[in-house]
Amino acid sequence: FDDRDGFIWYNGKLIPWREAQFHVLTHGLHYASSVFEGQRAYSGKVFKSREHSERLINSGRILGFEIPYSAEQIDAAIEETVKANGLTDAYIRPVAWRGAETMGVATKGSKVHLAIATWVWPSYFSPEAREKGLRLHLAEWRRPAPHTAPVRAKAAGLYMIASMNKDAASAEGFDDALMMDYKGRVAEATGANIFFIKDGKLHTPTVECVLDGITRQTAIELAERRGIEVIVRDIWPEEMADFDGAFLTGTAAEIAPLGEIGPYKYAVQELCKDLMDDYTNLVNGRL
Ligand code: PMP
Repeated sequence: FDDRDGFIWYNGKLIPWREAQFHVLTHGLHYASSVFEGQRAYSGKVFKSREHSERLINSGRILGFEIPYSAEQIDAAIEETVKANGLTDAYIRPVAWRGAETMGVATKGSKVHLAIATWVWPSYFSPEAREKGLRLHLAEWRRPAPHTAPVRAKAAGLYMIASMNKDAASAEGFDDALMMDYKGRVAEATGANIFFIKDGKLHTPTVECVLDGITRQTAIELAERRGIEVIVRDIWPEEMADFDGAFLTGTAAEIAPLGEIGPYKYAVQELCKDLMDDYTNLVNGRL
């Protein structure tokens, strides 16, 4: 991935992709003082750019650092990077971290760096899996409690758990993993939120222990626009036997139907297909 053409925005300017490096004594690498975003541009327009830039800044604040750029400046930098790489449909990865100015757990004296990379990432899951419904493994590692880790931030450190779960799922032939939270409630997939369908209504976990996804919010708005009731509540794993269907939401995953979660099987619901169509129309400016 580090060996390709193109440009990466790095601390205020565009530099060649291969030159976007940092020192091995970077604080973010050793102590996970790092936050990031995942965004998409469709037909040349970045979807909900401001919401993502604000979440990035807020994630940094939760970890105790201030990104030295405003949401407006980050939005502009993203547009500049997408254009410089000649992309119209792109995945965008802004990342902010504490640098190599200091070493040790303490952060005093470290500087906050920001980089933005963009590339083509058409489908997070295979088109066949998206058609039939994804298969989720029941994850071993749980989402930590809100007083154990900064679960509301999109913080790099939390993805240690996600990566271990994702790799275990892949090793067993699954598309992704569903994590429970510290109490045993249904939480989220490794990079997406989850919704269940029952009798024409949607059920989704509260955001106490999961990332408050921007796509999650969009899906709620699209459902309400169609007059579909959305119930945000605690969901327990035993309930998964009774749902009619389920789907994931996330910037990379978009809206993706589920076919299986561990021992539970679901048919792809019409309601889910409608929301997938609405989402495609919305992000392409056709709704
Ligand atoms: N949960 C986790 C753990 C994620 O990494 C993501 C992707 N950012 C999401 C949920 C979905 O968030 P969004 O819809 O804002 O992309």
